[in-house]
Amino acid sequence: MNAEIISVGTELLLGHTINTDASFVARELSPVGINLLYACTVGDNPERLKTAIDTALRRSDILITTGGLGPTGDDLTKETAAAAAGKKLVMHRESMEHIERYFQGRTLGETQKKQAMLPEGCTVFPNDVGTAPGCGFRTQNGKLVAMLPGPPSELIPMLKHYAVPFLLQGSENAAIVSRIVRVFGLGEGYVAEQIADLCGRANPTCATYAKDGEMFVRVTARAETAEKAEAMCRPVVEDLKGRLGDFCYGIDVESLEDAVVRLLTEKRLTVATAESCTGGLLAKRITDIPGSSAVFHMGVVTYANEIKAKLLGVPEEILKQYGAVSPQTARRMAVGVRERSGSDFGIGITGIAGPGGGTPEKPVGLVYLALSDGKDVWVREMRRSARGKGRGYLRFLAASNALDMVRRRVLGLGGLEEAAYTREKRRG
Ligand code: ATP
Repeated sequence: MNAEIISVGTELLLGHTINTDASFVARELSPVGINLLYACTVGDNPERLKTAIDTALRRSDILITTGGLGPTGDDLTKETAAAAAGKKLVMHRESMEHIERYFQGRTLGETQKKQAMLPEGCTVFPNDVGTAPGCGFRTQNGKLVAMLPGPPSELIPMLKHYAVPFLLQGSENAAIVSRIVRVFGLGEGYVAEQIADLCGRANPTCATYAKDGEMFVRVTARAETAEKAEAMCRPVVEDLKGRLGDFCYGIDVESLEDAVVRLLTEKRLTVATAESCTGGLLAKRITDIPGSSAVFHMGVVTYANEIKAKLLGVPEEILKQYGAVSPQTARRMAVGVRERSGSDFGIGITGIAGPGGGTPEKPVGLVYLALSDGKDVWVREMRRSARGKGRGYLRFLAASNALDMVRRRVLGLGGLEEAAYTREKRRG
C-alpha cells in the first residue's frame, strides 16, 4: 500500500515549527509494509488543503494528515477532508464526554465542542493525552484516510495505538512488534554493512538509524498475533547481539544513560563527575533518569584551572606542565572527585569543545575522559571533528564516551581507553 502524508499548519511553512510529526509517521510506516511516496506541507488554508487532499486521494492508497484538529478557527483538516470524501461531520458522543471531563470545572466553549464533530461512520482514535480525537475512514473509492493531531505528544501514542492498527485492519498480519537494539561505538555505515543480509529481509525487517553520535537497529515483525511477532523478533535480536558484541549496550532501553543508571543500580555502585568542557551535561544526563539518586553522588563543573586545583586537588604543576586539556589533568579530576565524594567511580572530563580555542596540538574536538575506581584510572582520548555539528555535538559525544567507560568498567568488558569509532578498524 502506498501512503502520503499531508502536514497541516502555517507554522510549519514559516519554519517556526520543525515537522517532526512527518518524520515520526514516516518512520512508523515502512516497518509495517506501508510505502510512503509523498509528503507535503500545507498552511491553514482551506482551498490549498482541499487541493492537496484531492491530489493525495487520487494518487495514494492511504492519506495521513497531521495537525489542524484542534478547536481554533484555523483548524480545518477534518472539515476539509470530510468534504473531499463526501462525508458529513456528526457529533461523537464519547469524544464529547471526554472533552467535558477534560474541562471539568472550567468553561467549555463552543469551539472546544467542535473537536467532537467527526466524519460519519469513522473509526475514532481516542486522544489519551489531549482533547482533539483523531479518526480514520475509508472513502467511497476504497482509500484510507487517517487524521492525527499536531502536537507530537498526542500524535505519537495515537499513531501507535490506534492509527497503525486501523491502517492494517483486514490485512493478514496486523500485529506488529518492534525491538530496538542500541549500539555505541560503531558507526551506522559499518553496522549496516555487517548486517546487510538481515536488512534485506521482508519480515522481520531490520533498519539502522543514527542519532546523537550513536546508532540503533530496529527489528520489526508482523504476524497474526503479538506473541508470534515477538517470537519472530527474538532470534534476529540475538543474532544482532552476537554480531555487534559488546558495542550493543541494551535492547529496548531509552538511552545510554538509562542503561548505565540501571546497571549501577543493579550492582549498587555509585558515581561522581567532575566536568570541564561538558559543563555538567554528563551529570544532567545521569540525573535525567528517574531513580538516579541511588547511583549519583555529586557532580561539579570545574571550568577554571584554580577551581580544578582548589576543589579537586589537581596539582598546579600538572596544570602548568601539561595544561588543563591533558590526560594528566583528566586523571587527577577523576581521582579528586571520587575521593571527595566517596563514590565507587569518579569521572573527569576536560577538552576543547570549540568553536575557537584549538591549536594544532590540541584541536577542537580533543577531549580527555578519565575513570577512577579507587585502584586504577583509565583515560580515553576522544578526537572528533564537529564537522558542522558544533559544540553541542562534541559535548554530547564526550558525555556518551564517559557513560560508555562506566558501562565497560562495571561489566568488565575492556576497551575503556579506546575512543568510540576507532574500534571499527580493529573489528574490520
Ligand atoms: P491543537 O488541539 O493543539 O490545536 P491540532 O491538531 O489542531 O492540535 P495544530 O493546531 O495544527 O494541531 O498544532 C498544534 C501544535 O502542535 C503546533 O503549534 C506545533 O507546536 C505542534 N505541531 C503541529 N504540527 C506539527 C508537526 N508537523 N510537527 C511537529 N509539531 C507539530
